[in-house]
Amino acid sequence: MHSIISRIDSVRQRIKTAAEKAGRSERDIVLLAVSKTRSHMAINEAFEARVHAFGENYVQEAIEKIDRLKEKSIIWHFIGALQTNKTRIIADRFDWVHSVDRMKIAQRLNNHRDPAQQRLNICLQVNIDNEASKAGLSTTIVGDAVKQVLELPHIRLRGLMAIPAPRDNESAQRSVFARVRTLQEEINSGLDNSQKLDTLSMGMSADLEAAIQEGATVVRIGTDIFGPRERRAE
Ligand SMILES: *Cc1c(COP(=O)(O)O)cnc(C)c1O
Repeated sequence: MHSIISRIDSVRQRIKTAAEKAGRSERDIVLLAVSKTRSHMAINEAFEARVHAFGENYVQEAIEKIDRLKEKSIIWHFIGALQTNKTRIIADRFDWVHSVDRMKIAQRLNNHRDPAQQRLNICLQVNIDNEASKAGLSTTIVGDAVKQVLELPHIRLRGLMAIPAPRDNESAQRSVFARVRTLQEEINSGLDNSQKLDTLSMGMSADLEAAIQEGATVVRIGTDIFGPRERRAE
């Protein structure tokens, strides 16, 4: 049996090794622990190992855990499929949303965000492999969406998120992540300094090394921290 703490140690080691190989600092990469389907006790254990950012996919389940853990200084990231009837509670209870895949959702999150709170950090999800089954903006329209989101006063647009189709070798993984990075660079070249996107949310348990090689600033790790999920994934 591996404990959550020892699994976190080995994920951190992988991040460090990949960062060094890429000439980057591990400090520039956020370890986002994906805690969907996990108990608040499991989250607490990861928190004790100095993980402070957690990603959740299911709103109801997430809110229960956020309520239970409200004494802890946790940064909560919503990374799941977004329904319009959930935007109010997400805008209210989360710090980040990675899975914004249409303008209507961005507008609603903006409208529901309390102006007294800090702006809601969001990433636009890109359907980098153009998969019919997957959420995300097509690469051809991301640039327009960025311009529109930048107009929303209670949103802080941070970057792009992608979930590529699985590939079985690192060079194939790298080439798709490189496309996300290039897309972000193209977008940034047209933006003022104050607006430039600084976040690339990409890389999961199976491909975090490739993602870090290609500039990931947030890796979203579930299985390799908490062990296999019982299903209800995706
Ligand atoms: C579940 C999930 C992850 C974590 O995947 P693992 O393979 O368990 O590391 C990352 N990102 C998103 C969007 C997810 O839904």
